[in-house]
Amino acid sequence: MSGTTRDYDVLIVGSGAAGLTAALNLAPRFRVAVLAKGGLSEGATGWAQGGIAAVLEPGDTFESHVEDTMVAGGGLNDRATVEFVVENAPAAIARLSELGVPFNSDTDGAGWHLTREGGHSHRRIVHVDDATGWAVQQALEKAAAAHPNITLIPDMVAIDLVTSRHGERYSGDGHVWGVYALNKAKGKVETFTARATILATGGAGRVYLFSTAPRGATGDGIAMAWRAGCRVSNMEFMQFHPTCLYNLEVKNFLITEAVRGEGGRLINPATGKRFMPYYDAERLELAPRDVVARAIDAEIKRYGLDFVHLDISHQPAEFVKGHFPNIYEKLLGLGIDITKDPIPVVPAQHYTCGGVVIDLDGRTDLPGLYAVGEVSESGLHGANRLASNSLLECFVFGEAAAKHIAVNWDTLLAPPPIRGWDESRVTDSDEEVVIKQNWTEIRRFMWNYVGIVRTTKRLERAQHRIKLLTGEIEDYYGHFRVTPDLVELRNLLQTAELIVRSALKRHESRGLHYTLDYPKTAAKAVDTVLAP
Ligand SMILES: Cc1cc2nc3c(=O)[nH]c(=O)nc-3n(C[C@H](O)[C@H](O)[C@H](O)COP(=O)(O)OP(=O)(O)OC[C@H]3O[C@@H](n4cnc5c(N)ncnc54)[C@H](O)[C@@H]3O)c2cc1C
Repeated sequence: MSGTTRDYDVLIVGSGAAGLTAALNLAPRFRVAVLAKGGLSEGATGWAQGGIAAVLEPGDTFESHVEDTMVAGGGLNDRATVEFVVENAPAAIARLSELGVPFNSDTDGAGWHLTREGGHSHRRIVHVDDATGWAVQQALEKAAAAHPNITLIPDMVAIDLVTSRHGERYSGDGHVWGVYALNKAKGKVETFTARATILATGGAGRVYLFSTAPRGATGDGIAMAWRAGCRVSNMEFMQFHPTCLYNLEVKNFLITEAVRGEGGRLINPATGKRFMPYYDAERLELAPRDVVARAIDAEIKRYGLDFVHLDISHQPAEFVKGHFPNIYEKLLGLGIDITKDPIPVVPAQHYTCGGVVIDLDGRTDLPGLYAVGEVSESGLHGANRLASNSLLECFVFGEAAAKHIAVNWDTLLAPPPIRGWDESRVTDSDEEVVIKQNWTEIRRFMWNYVGIVRTTKRLERAQHRIKLLTGEIEDYYGHFRVTPDLVELRNLLQTAELIVRSALKRHESRGLHYTLDYPKTAAKAVDTVLAP
């Protein structure tokens, strides 16, 4: 048994919007540590372009935002959760503004400038140009760094949750008291203990070959919670963003939904024709993401294309540059002047709707363990996420979990003495190539067999490969010293297994889950809940 132990009141794994919001809400009363597996700003939050949805101007209503969310979610959303998030949205935006997030103002300066995105029936997206997430991440990080009660710990990779079975006396109730984490600089595993632990580890997009998510989106929190005994739900609902830049040099650069919101048209480069009228005559390019992604996928497959075009060049050049300064600059550097040229785009995995089951306080099934943000399944998104609702979920649930911890502090048990990480039976690996090979293999078969359009046969093929790899990777994990790549590979495979198992359980097509074997939507909407 070895390693250092550090004790805090509350431990938060993840330094994105969800984790930092929780930290800032806890810090007035508690000593909080926030772990990130790389740099603090490297999660998906900093990458968000479009903005945050909230009802902020006369004429818009909570009912309308709730309804839009439920329609996008294919009726699988939990209405109470949707109402909770929507009604708390304006206050969350006000708090971000107080923290210094420089949201764009309206032309007359009287309010915020609001954009409209696919699936929203009203302009309700606050934004900071087209780099909202970066502005939010910087403001939260600055506030957290300045708080004496918050310790920010980058380059610390959580491996597994510390539960009651790691206590010196086994209690068997599954209570969670922190994490074991790999200190990247030292190459050593440390034990972090706390009365309450919050998973804010983001999504699992990197389980797919093409994904707009950052490199670290490997489903770590979902896999850790599952291994510890939490239920996981709706993992089959993986959102594919319809418009990711197609470029062999710069892979996975997202072209925000707002380009379609401001009039961008999707054109088939083979026919030169706008194709959305054939797929959704009413909503056209503003149809929800799953509809647009499937339409692009169908055009690409039907015409044997590498990409389709997204064209905004019919709008005045100043309008385009003013609304999309970052995309304009980035693409100009790649030889595409979006004021004149169409943008080549493909769909790519973008958002993980499913995750660790939580309640309105962010509580998971295990005492002492909370989950907030993209790692969780709160009931907000149902079978498909409405654009710009996800950052919002991070702020609302980050605060809700913090409140619950504060109110129930006296009932949360202090950690008992915990056994350190056992490295006595492992050696350094001499076969790192195995990790790289398996990583690529998972991402490729998930893309080919568990992508936008599914069949039972393809899902079973994926399941078969997962079974073979599981034995190999667990054997590897049991014999060699952990590395960040090995931790991620193990979690990636676990997440892939949960996605495929969930997809096989759903005998209908709904929202983001579309299978040729069950193309119809069942009358009753039921969550796919997996229990360990
Ligand atoms: C390109 C892109 C554009 C987007 N645009 C929008 C948008 O306009 N509006 C919107 O609402 N949403 C958008 N989203 C979605 C949104 O950004 C995410 O859902 C949200 O930021 C998730 O925040 P989070 O705090 O849950 O996780 P993240 O911001 O992803 O943070 C995860 C954190 O967990 C840490 N972590 C993970 N695993 C471990 C581990 N094992 N040990 C230690 N730390 C760990 C990471 O280091 C990181 O700090 C977009 C997403 C992408 C990828």
